[in-house]
Amino acid sequence: MLTTLIYKSQLNPSCQSLSLISLVEKARQRNSALDVTGILLFNGADFLQILEGPEEVLEKLFCKIRSDKRHHSVVELMRDYGPRRRFENVGMLLFDLLVDSQKSVLSSVLRYSKLDYYLAAQDRVFKFIQSFITREQPTRDGAVFLPERWKLAPEHAPFGKCINGPIDNQVCQFALQPIIEPTEGKISSLEALIRGNDGGSPERFFSAIDQDKMYEVDLQTKAYAFALAEKIGIGDHKIAVNLLPMSLVNVPGAVDFLMDQILIHGLQPEQVVIEVTENEMISGFNQFNSAIKQLRAAGIGLAIDDFGSGYAGLSLLTRFQPDKLKIDREIVSDIHLSGPKQAIVKSIISCCTDLEIALVAEGIEKIEEWCWLESAGIKRFQGFLFSRPKLNGVGEIHWPQFSSAPFLSD
Ligand code: C2E
Ligand code: MN
Ligand code: MN
Repeated sequence: MLTTLIYKSQLNPSCQSLSLISLVEKARQRNSALDVTGILLFNGADFLQILEGPEEVLEKLFCKIRSDKRHHSVVELMRDYGPRRRFENVGMLLFDLLVDSQKSVLSSVLRYSKLDYYLAAQDRVFKFIQSFITREQPTRDGAVFLPERWKLAPEHAPFGKCINGPIDNQVCQFALQPIIEPTEGKISSLEALIRGNDGGSPERFFSAIDQDKMYEVDLQTKAYAFALAEKIGIGDHKIAVNLLPMSLVNVPGAVDFLMDQILIHGLQPEQVVIEVTENEMISGFNQFNSAIKQLRAAGIGLAIDDFGSGYAGLSLLTRFQPDKLKIDREIVSDIHLSGPKQAIVKSIISCCTDLEIALVAEGIEKIEEWCWLESAGIKRFQGFLFSRPKLNGVGEIHWPQFSSAPFLSD
């Protein structure tokens, strides 16, 4: 199927003297053999490339392009299908904004394409080209994406106390996973994740519970989470627990129960955050609203979990603003490679900045994901990269450390 793929990337600083003309000439020869057409735009620092061709061919070619050391930060912006090519007669053509003016580049791109001006003005591919040509040079102040400069250094047993094995006389256990602020070297909070007595997942634990006891069990088990926080001595750190919103709505006196347990275990309500997932929240919002008010009145914090995995999205924030919003793993995974994911996260960051909502990115597994998110302005992170959940304790934390080693040139 005829596919159009657009990506942007940055010139590797060690390839400054690169001859773009010979590079493009080689690409042109290769592309004509592969039935690939397109153009390459360069502004002195960044590239934008449009590739057109059969889907499988482009897939293979893009894999090769991504591992090419002459550029870095390759981000896919668009992948689309269409009835015809825009650059049918062009094997690969270079437009260099260091050599030609914006105006002349724009008009020669149009000349080489098969579309007239009116059609081009409505075409998404041309909008990408036009914005690349006409935008101001990107400023890269402070926020630099340099994943290769970071190493992880482990810190063993950050909370001295750890309980070995499961705790007796409980219907379940809890594993703790820290949410950290890597640049501050600070633990921002600990999330308590429920486990069966055999260490099994939350899903398995809840599937063994009678449907009509579910909410009660969900609520009551939180007492063990607070007890664990007391046992390991969390000090003034925060503890986050997960709850189904209906556990607060359907169980009479739910908020009072939580308050009692928080105080019994020597915690302050301000130290406690209740996490509810986006989808569950929206489905029973009206009933849940009064429970939110009670939590607020008691001083307990509220977080929206798995944000971006559901259908409500940012409009949820018109109804209600939580203290904290956790961006779902689905959106942050491989964010350094995806233009659409980056655009979505930037808009979440901008909303939460305006509304003073703390943001957490969860499920971070790669240093590149963290680096991109950190340079976009997120400060709090949770994920296997930094620390895995540990039964009845806090596991090793791997803190990122900047290395001043120079760029490796190839
Ligand atoms: P969640 O609240 O979004 O918790 C994060 C889940 O992601 C945890 O799975 C954690 O182990 C996992 N995780 C953390 N970092 C990474 C990572 O880098 N990569 C990957 N692949 N996964 C990561 P877990 O413990 O299996 O919990 C699953 C879900 O079960 C939780 O998602 C939460 O929604 C729910 N849950 C946990 N405890 C309770 C509870 O006490 N009550 C209720 N109602 N739900 C709970
Ligand atoms: Mn959670
Ligand atoms: Mn989550």
